[in-house]
Amino acid sequence: MSCTPESKPSVLHADNKATASNSIPEHISLDKWADTGFEWSGSVDPRIFDRLVSTLNTEHEQAMTQLDAELYRRNNVLHLRFTLTGEVWLTCQRCLRPVAVDLSDDYDIALLEDDSQASLVDDDQDYLLLEEIITEQSPERLLPFKKLIEDEILLKTPLAPKHDDCEMVVEQFGEIPEEEESENPFAALAALKGKL
Ligand SMILES: [Zn+2]
Repeated sequence: MSCTPESKPSVLHADNKATASNSIPEHISLDKWADTGFEWSGSVDPRIFDRLVSTLNTEHEQAMTQLDAELYRRNNVLHLRFTLTGEVWLTCQRCLRPVAVDLSDDYDIALLEDDSQASLVDDDQDYLLLEEIITEQSPERLLPFKKLIEDEILLKTPLAPKHDDCEMVVEQFGEIPEEEESENPFAALAALKGKL
């Protein structure tokens, strides 16, 4: 077998591409990037997401997911668009064995300066208010990039993942507890979206 080096050429990107560092940025400075556009691509270990990690199966190895993200403007409204490619391993709520959940999708969130911009986006466009998501005390306006990505992943992952076809292996004594959908810790995320 021939030994080929990494297929990607050495990083010589334009200034608005931050792919040199392979770790996902916690924040993006909007003062710096909101007008020029921002792009980030890289592979992401799902275990870096603090809230997601508690749902991950620990018996099965987790694979890297590919993330391609950019900030862009449409109708003068800032959008965060990204594509995820990959899967995470969760625990099947029926047989308790690892189950793969595909995260692959295109995501697009409008980031509104204020309520008045809601009229500038399509009815079915997901959106968030910048004032509600920028919580960092800083002279710069810092978009919590990593947190927003994680929010979307959490919304994408099922609350009670199950194999399509498997049998309950756990012997139950007494009543089988009902799934408590109301205790979804991420319901607040879903509620936040599209709420003005
Ligand atoms: Zn199962």
